[in-house]
Amino acid sequence: MMPTRQGSFRLFRLFGIDVHLHWSWLFVAIYSVSVRVPNYRSPVWALLEYLALFLIVLMHEYGHSLACRSVGGQADQIVLWPLGGVAYVSPPPRPGAVLWSLAAGPLVNVVLFPFLVAAIIVGERAGWETNHADLNRFIWAVGMVNALLLGFNLMPVYPLDGGQILRAVLWFFIGKARSLTVATVVGFLGGAVFVLYALLHADLWLGVLSLFLIMNCWRGFQEARMLRRVEQLPRRPEFACPVCRSAPPIGAYWRCQQCRQPFDPFASSAVCPHCGSVHAVTACPDCGQSKPILAWDVRVHDV
Ligand SMILES: [Zn+2]
Ligand SMILES: [Zn+2]
Ligand SMILES: [Zn+2]
Repeated sequence: MMPTRQGSFRLFRLFGIDVHLHWSWLFVAIYSVSVRVPNYRSPVWALLEYLALFLIVLMHEYGHSLACRSVGGQADQIVLWPLGGVAYVSPPPRPGAVLWSLAAGPLVNVVLFPFLVAAIIVGERAGWETNHADLNRFIWAVGMVNALLLGFNLMPVYPLDGGQILRAVLWFFIGKARSLTVATVVGFLGGAVFVLYALLHADLWLGVLSLFLIMNCWRGFQEARMLRRVEQLPRRPEFACPVCRSAPPIGAYWRCQQCRQPFDPFASSAVCPHCGSVHAVTACPDCGQSKPILAWDVRVHDV
């Protein structure tokens, strides 16, 4: 359950990243602007406040996307929808690369924080509260939104940034699969607390968001189970990934680029037994890096 290109239209493309807007966002935008109108003398400021929120969310998502690219990952799409923004990032499956791609989003809000505080202080000194009441309210609202977004995103509730950062940190110590299990279990507990809070305060938005988080936790939990199964497969000790040193599993877990049939490149020197095509590189199921089969062979290195 993630917003996709379906139901959204492309706003613009910047730094090679397409920014899409989901249609449902427009309704929420109209509602959000209308509830802000009474806070200002001129309704234009209500619109500006919502646009500033939009911009902060966008910058946060660009933080994720550009950081993911900087470590060799793929990131070419951001979708903005009522629950915020989603940056479609696939960093290389290494804990450091994943951690940086995740931390860079909240880091944007951390960088913005002192500037917004400075603007509030300048406003206080210049007496904007009396002579520029709308501007003063606007700056306070933007400062609060940035701080709230930062605080909320850093909560360790998978798949919020905080929950995914927790997972990436644990990955260093207990591995790819178990770190995801722990993070999603913590996420379920956090999601349950959110649901309780949403029910007690009749907060529809938080209720919808909590269900979304819990569904994603369930997906992550299932993925962790699958990863654990992969980790437990029998391995070939005579091969090791040139990047992460893990031995490949024994079995037809690779797909031929030519005929799309599954095969085991380590059993046939990277030649597909179905169509005979030779594969220049073989991808590591653990770290995702592709290297020539000879580079995998520990016996070659030993000579
Ligand atoms: Zn984020
Ligand atoms: Zn083939
Ligand atoms: Zn590897």
